[in-house]
Amino acid sequence: MLFMKRALRLAMHGEGKVSPNPLVGAVVVKGKKIIGEGWHERFGGPHAEAIALRGIDARGATLYVTLEPCCPCVSLKKTPACVPLVFKSGVKRVVIAARDIHPQVCGIEELRSSGVQVEEGLLEDEARKLNEVHEVFFKAGRAFCALKIAQSANGKIGVRKAGKVQISGKAFDCYVHQLRNRYDAILVGANTIIEDDPLLTCRAPGGRNPARIILDSRLRIPLHAKALQNAKKDRVIIATTDLANPKKARELKRKGVALLRCGKSKVDVKKLLYLLPKLGLFSVLVEGGAKAAQSFLSAGIVDRLVVAVSPKKINGPNAVSSPVSREMLRKMPYYRCGRDRVYDAYLTSYSK
Ligand SMILES: [Zn+2]
Repeated sequence: MLFMKRALRLAMHGEGKVSPNPLVGAVVVKGKKIIGEGWHERFGGPHAEAIALRGIDARGATLYVTLEPCCPCVSLKKTPACVPLVFKSGVKRVVIAARDIHPQVCGIEELRSSGVQVEEGLLEDEARKLNEVHEVFFKAGRAFCALKIAQSANGKIGVRKAGKVQISGKAFDCYVHQLRNRYDAILVGANTIIEDDPLLTCRAPGGRNPARIILDSRLRIPLHAKALQNAKKDRVIIATTDLANPKKARELKRKGVALLRCGKSKVDVKKLLYLLPKLGLFSVLVEGGAKAAQSFLSAGIVDRLVVAVSPKKINGPNAVSSPVSREMLRKMPYYRCGRDRVYDAYLTSYSK
């Protein structure tokens, strides 16, 4: 179990760099000693198994890998398949956490038929969570949707016309930047841009900025909004409708912003999730506000819901209620993160 835990931890180093490939970690063990390890570091780069087995004498060793090794039957591959590599290395036993959901991968069968001993299912749940994006894409054919909300002890997520109200503590805010690094894009509604003017960048150490997606059915957002700056370098996409103002659309395009029409008068968020993989975006972190969050929840397409509940209370007539009810929270597992409670659960059948 310890070796697989190590492989899972290694896999996470690839966050933000391997999409749309899965995150994979591998550890080679001989006589209870780790003699090789690696992870899939970047899209198009060598696979975890190839890195872990590079330059070592693996004869008779055990390979722990978080995902089923790939086989030569997978089309459009950028690197050599891992199964023949594992076989040639002389590895005696392979322990796999989770099977690959990719319909063409048959690594387990191939390894077994080559005489390698295979065990599967060790820490499977953890490994599947690591590859939530990959699983949802192959099962549902759309981008993975994570929704993050920070709310007060009395279920409020902000105050209307008051700008950004700090609700969650520092520890959860650091975690949000890790999430921004993990997913391909961050999404907010136009009101969040107009009222809070956030940067929507990733400030996790070693992280990269995700693409920014803004829901704006009429193109109301101001051209000077911070989230629109650097649109030529960091990708910025506005999901809009037939009501989009043509003049504003031209101005936005000049700034490097891409416009995506999905809907007549209201952005169809479900359609959006099906369009995003065509743009190379396989996951999205919905960060607010209440209206955007509610539209994803109502459409039943939130795969993962992360809610931080602060001990603070927010009162007053302008307080905005969270779209997540107490009933929903009651069914979700939680853990402590600084002074907040963080509820984190998978909601759709594709992500479970
Ligand atoms: Zn591979």
